[in-house]
Amino acid sequence: MDAMPPPSDKDGLKPYDGPQPVDMLPEIFIKDAFAEDDERLWVPLAPGRWSRPLCLNASNGYWIHLTRVRGGGFLSRHRHPGPVHGLVIKGSWRYLEHDWVAKAGSYVYEPPGEIHTLVVDDDCEEMVTLFHNTGAVLYCDENGVTTGATDVFDRIRTAREHFEAVGLGADYAERFIR
Ligand code: FE
Repeated sequence: MDAMPPPSDKDGLKPYDGPQPVDMLPEIFIKDAFAEDDERLWVPLAPGRWSRPLCLNASNGYWIHLTRVRGGGFLSRHRHPGPVHGLVIKGSWRYLEHDWVAKAGSYVYEPPGEIHTLVVDDDCEEMVTLFHNTGAVLYCDENGVTTGATDVFDRIRTAREHFEAVGLGADYAERFIR
């Protein structure tokens, strides 16, 4: 963790040092979310697909992470029972059901219930998007029938297994869990 900056500036501004709620959880601070210097922090999900966990929220059932995809193609057809917020950091992707292309700087709100088909076009070498997922991702077939699912508990388990396998230890995942 980095050292605290000086507590006051020229105007005499001081940090609040009064009581905080006793049940308050600790903050999460990640200095380098892109983890460019440590590939171990990217959890592999499938060939050419990784997830960099930022906040795995077991108490409210959501997770915030960076999705990284290298190489274009079909990723998944899926439905979200809860809302999704996405902010594209790098590259581009789109849903076959919409006429827009999400590019670096694009923000997307995905409404609960929508079934959509995620593709990364072949001319995109690497895509990185911050996603805030709530509840689950329900994978669907071409008829919209659910064929599989993932939720924050899967993400926690997968992260623990990966961090153990790469030598960071399963407990490395704890810093992302609230
Ligand atoms: Fe989606």
